[in-house]
Amino acid sequence: MWAEFIEFLIGAVTAHMITRVPFLTFPRLKTWNEQFPPHPEAVYVDAHLIQRVMHMRFFHWLSIVFALIPLVFGWFSMSYGSAAIGFGMWSVSGWLILSRLTGFLAGEEANWTKQLAMNLQLVRNRADSDESCCNLPYPVWQVTAVRCTNCGSNLLNKPRPDLGRPRSDGWIMGFVRLMITDGRPIVASEEE
Ligand SMILES: [Zn+2]
Repeated sequence: MWAEFIEFLIGAVTAHMITRVPFLTFPRLKTWNEQFPPHPEAVYVDAHLIQRVMHMRFFHWLSIVFALIPLVFGWFSMSYGSAAIGFGMWSVSGWLILSRLTGFLAGEEANWTKQLAMNLQLVRNRADSDESCCNLPYPVWQVTAVRCTNCGSNLLNKPRPDLGRPRSDGWIMGFVRLMITDGRPIVASEEE
C-alpha cells in the first residue's frame, strides 16, 4: 500500500516537473536576461518587459504540449510497468491540460495575459505623452505595483508575477517556490 502511494507520488511529481520545464528553464537562460536587472529588483517598463510578458504567456501555454510527455510515459508505465507511477503521471498531466483549457474557456486569467501586456504598453505610452505623471516619468514594475520612481505615482495596480529571471533565492529554492506558486505573485495588489 505504502509502496504504491510512494510510486504514485513519484509519478505525480515527475509529471509536475516535466510540465513546468518550459517556464522554469527557457526564460532563465543568461542571454535572455541581460536587458533586465537581477531578480528581485524592479523592472523598467519598456518594450523588452512587454515582450517578456508575452514570452511568459507562451511558455505558460507550452506546458500543455509538455504535458503530453508524461501522458505518453504514464500510459506506457500503466501498461508495462508500474501502474501507480503511470497513474500519478496521468493524473497530474491530465489535470493540467483540463484546468488550462477550462480556465481558458471560462476566461480565467493566467499570470501573463495579453491584457497585462496591453496595460503595460498603456503605462509606457502615458509616460511618453503629455499626460505623464511628472516631468521625468520612470515607470518600474515593483513587487506590488507599477510605480514611477521619480514622483511615486501608482501607475498600474498589479503585483508582479514571475518574469523568468534567474531567482535571487538560488536555483533550488527558487525552483521549489516556482513549482509551488506557478509564478503567481506572492503578494496581493495594493488596493486589496
Ligand atoms: Zn512620475
